[in-house]
Amino acid sequence: MTRPYDLIIVGAGLYGAVIAQQAVGCGLRVLVIEKRDHVAGYCYSFPDAQTGLIVHRHGAHIFHTKQKYIWDYVNRFAQFVPYVHRVRARIGGITYPLPINLSTLRDFFGVSLEANEVDHFLSLQRGTFREPQNFEEKAVNLVGWKLYEGFVRNYSAKQWGVAPKDLPSTMKLQIDVRPSTDDRYFGDRYQGVPVDGYTPMIQRMLTGADLELGVDFCQEPHRWQKLTKGLVYTGPLDRYFNFRHGPLKWREITHELKVCSPASKLESPVVNINDDSSDCTRIADYSQLSASSHTGGPIVLGWERLTSVNDNERAYVENRVLKPVRFDEEEERLVKYQRDASREHHVYFGGRMADYRLYDMEHVVALALKAARSIVSQTSSGTLNHRV
Ligand SMILES: Cc1cc2nc3c(=O)[nH]c(=O)nc-3n(C[C@H](O)[C@H](O)[C@H](O)COP(=O)(O)OP(=O)(O)OC[C@H]3O[C@@H](n4cnc5c(N)ncnc54)[C@H](O)[C@@H]3O)c2cc1C
Repeated sequence: MTRPYDLIIVGAGLYGAVIAQQAVGCGLRVLVIEKRDHVAGYCYSFPDAQTGLIVHRHGAHIFHTKQKYIWDYVNRFAQFVPYVHRVRARIGGITYPLPINLSTLRDFFGVSLEANEVDHFLSLQRGTFREPQNFEEKAVNLVGWKLYEGFVRNYSAKQWGVAPKDLPSTMKLQIDVRPSTDDRYFGDRYQGVPVDGYTPMIQRMLTGADLELGVDFCQEPHRWQKLTKGLVYTGPLDRYFNFRHGPLKWREITHELKVCSPASKLESPVVNINDDSSDCTRIADYSQLSASSHTGGPIVLGWERLTSVNDNERAYVENRVLKPVRFDEEEERLVKYQRDASREHHVYFGGRMADYRLYDMEHVVALALKAARSIVSQTSSGTLNHRV
């Protein structure tokens, strides 16, 4: 049977776009189908109508990587503003630099420490739980009660919807205490934000591929599979398999954008709300993230909040923005779905939703470039197999 496409890619997010770009570059006939009415998935950006500032619809996105080949790759499709990301934590109306560093310790505790004094200072604060039974004990063992209560407790509870003492100790702890005054949020050499946003970057990557927007693959999977030799699926894994092992657990992220007066400008491009004064986790200031020269007029701020997801199907159909919750129970369910995925012929799963992982964009680019090599070679040789 003649199939009009070598590859159909489900999802015009970053993962799908990189695969499409590589496949088209190798001469494959590619169709990308996307259920939203626009490309770019979670990275979607647009110029705000009132201020002209480029805003990131689902939350501030900063591209950062240590890898030159990844940086060189994305720079083929976008011009990046030289940018160093800085974040502050708001606690009790005062903001402190993040990650916690010498300046944070000075402002928070009122102590002036040298780099070689930090470890001793923390050792006086640290908890002494022999075998931490939960996330709280693990964090207290690392930084002590005061830093934990200020910086970790409320923020983690808002992130996960569960008090840290009810979170497993196996959860990854992301608290960095730097024995320096380096307040760069990411230590990566390469970081930036595209001058005209992520949407044009993805559009450029998709050049040469056919694109159909507003099409939900899961409503007619067989129709699309008949048209192609191979399929790349970047949507949620449980939905592809019609929830046969039960739904995977997610938190929903909302990002409420508002035009505000210039007086509302934040102390840094992103301010985390680490106390319990608000249900918001962080606020982004697009006058500091946008490349468009800000004239001093109104600015755009974005408030991020997280809530639980009770109905996966509905959340997927409504294109909500989701963050995986990988506790032990989910890992077991995920393994079952991954086993099923490895048995699918001609279907390649990848990206944040199909892998059910919290990837940054650099990971997505690296994984997609690697997967594309294998997908292209298998598709070209006609020996399509399964997951790469
Ligand atoms: C709030 C937030 C902030 C972030 N900040 C950063 C940051 O600062 N730096 C960073 O590096 N990364 C950041 N990330 C991560 C980054 O957004 C992701 O790593 C990246 O966008 C994932 O790309 P993807 O293609 O895997 O997934 P997605 O962007 O989700 O793309 C998947 C696409 O598939 C489509 N799709 C799904 N199912 C179907 C279907 N059945 N039929 C058709 N289409 C379908 C979806 O609509 C979507 O467009 C952030 C993420 C979020 C949510």
